[in-house]
Amino acid sequence: MNYNEFEFLSGERMPVGTFFCIGKNYSEHIKEMGGTGKEEPVIFIKPPAAYLPNGGTILIPSISINVHHELELVVLIGKDCANVPKENAKEYIAGYAVGIDVTMRDVQGIAKAGGNPWSLSKGFYTSAPVSQFISPSQLPAGHEGFEMELRVNGELRQSGNTSGMIHSIDEIIEYLSAMFTLRRGDAIYTGTPQGVGQIKSGDVVTAELKGFVSLEVKVANK
Ligand code: MG
Repeated sequence: MNYNEFEFLSGERMPVGTFFCIGKNYSEHIKEMGGTGKEEPVIFIKPPAAYLPNGGTILIPSISINVHHELELVVLIGKDCANVPKENAKEYIAGYAVGIDVTMRDVQGIAKAGGNPWSLSKGFYTSAPVSQFISPSQLPAGHEGFEMELRVNGELRQSGNTSGMIHSIDEIIEYLSAMFTLRRGDAIYTGTPQGVGQIKSGDVVTAELKGFVSLEVKVANK
């Protein structure tokens, strides 16, 4: 299993960069977390070593007793870029995948209460499972939103359509590239729809962009 490179359906590979993650990008999820639905997106980062390839195992750190799945579309940056206007954003997209923003919800809650960063709760080893990527050129003409689903031990837990995002992919690339500069191999987690919930040691979690790519990972205690 290769923890250093993303894989495409085509067999192409790309080194794993930084994960830029968007919080609060679907209104129903904001409501389930107790927000108002009118908030600005939250930006946080997972390091490259958080990456978990398809077929791997999420390792739950001993400091948490409540780890959650968050089903998300992941967008891969194919070329270094800065200050990209949203009209040009698609030129920089190398692929689309399904990912899980694995979150230690209890640890995140303590950070939120203290006004502290989310790095620990969101960026730990194996917290970024990502499927193979599909290239934009492989999508059918006129393709718009992705249908996505997440199951735990076969039971449907989350489903959504990326057309429900508050901030679009193009707007996210415009915003992030103005602030950070994006590099080839960086990947963007675009936020989760409603239905987040707990995963435990022994679970098998599957996720898919319906009709395109899928992901299966196990869960164990570290
Ligand atoms: Mg998330």
